[in-house]
Amino acid sequence: MLKPNAHLAHLPVYEPGRPVEDVARDLNLDPATIIKLASNENPLGPSPRAIQAIRDAAARSHFYPDGNGFMLRRALAKKLGLDVEQIVLGNGSNELIEFVGHAYLAPGAEMVISQYAFAVYEIVGKMFQATIREVPARDHGHDLAAMRQAITPKTRLIFIANPNNPTGTIISRTELERFILDVPDHCLVVLDEAYQEFLKDPLNTPALIAKKPNLVVMRTFSKAQGLAGLRIGYGVAHRDVAAQLQKVRQPFQANLVAQAAALAALEDEEHIRKTVEVVTAGRSFLEKEFAARKLAFVPSQGNFVLVKVGDGRKVFEGLMREGVIIRHMHGYKLPEWIRVTVGTQEQNQRFLKSLDKVLSS
Ligand SMILES: *Cc1c(COP(=O)(O)O)cnc(C)c1O
Repeated sequence: MLKPNAHLAHLPVYEPGRPVEDVARDLNLDPATIIKLASNENPLGPSPRAIQAIRDAAARSHFYPDGNGFMLRRALAKKLGLDVEQIVLGNGSNELIEFVGHAYLAPGAEMVISQYAFAVYEIVGKMFQATIREVPARDHGHDLAAMRQAITPKTRLIFIANPNNPTGTIISRTELERFILDVPDHCLVVLDEAYQEFLKDPLNTPALIAKKPNLVVMRTFSKAQGLAGLRIGYGVAHRDVAAQLQKVRQPFQANLVAQAAALAALEDEEHIRKTVEVVTAGRSFLEKEFAARKLAFVPSQGNFVLVKVGDGRKVFEGLMREGVIIRHMHGYKLPEWIRVTVGTQEQNQRFLKSLDKVLSS
């Protein structure tokens, strides 16, 4: 048999949330009765303005997209008060994670991540044969002092997700700013802000790039904007860093429909406001209900909550049979925990009812 590159043998495989149709086929359930609270998707769906833009764009699908993504990049730059040249579009912000690997990792290079970091960082690190330094977490969140200590002359990338997925923890504004400004110039800080919209009082991190050119901020339309299925995200960087990331991408990776939808979603502040409102209320509700059941949970600033249930995989399977899809945390070495996405109030209640049933059986 043909031999693949040796490092592929140790490459972890990303385990996504199970799709509704998949579970329906597997367990012989009606897909209409299944709820998915597994991938931090928007419980309200896409913005109505994005849906209209998708309809309009559909008729232009025989054209290649604008490979420069000019309209969307210009709108993002304007919103952030930066230059168009500082914005890089991705096929989801996951693709940006790969771009920084292409541009800055190589065999022997080091990267620093936290315990319980988003699984894709490690996958990309190993894909480029980097040495991964995983720093133990503090209260399920980043220990920035220890991460700073883990930097060596060979360190190229430092990944930080704020809020962190899957734990929902955040770093205070002052701590985050101090850390970023203190990182030596030979390392790139990759700040993953996939859940930025859910923060009460976010630090203006793109503005830090003027002071600190070795910083990339990554954001996505998959979560608060509800466009996960279209795969569109972006990175914000110093123009010289952005130019490197542009070099390593395929010409048309951000598709025409996604670009149009994202542009419309960006302007629909009302939809984002409503989403944040539903998520904030639903998250408080879930946390209160977990506390009432004496289930430990990590207080979350994202649209999901990590909760300790005993045998996470068993609970995951039990809930699935009830038609409720969540995530077990085996891959994150948190076997006693599950992660549930905040849904609509109706979905949250259904999840709790099923959870009670599964835990009492
Ligand atoms: C969801 C998520 C992303 C991005 O997902 P895309 O759909 O690829 O934009 C990135 N980082 C974290 C931590 C996430 O949870």
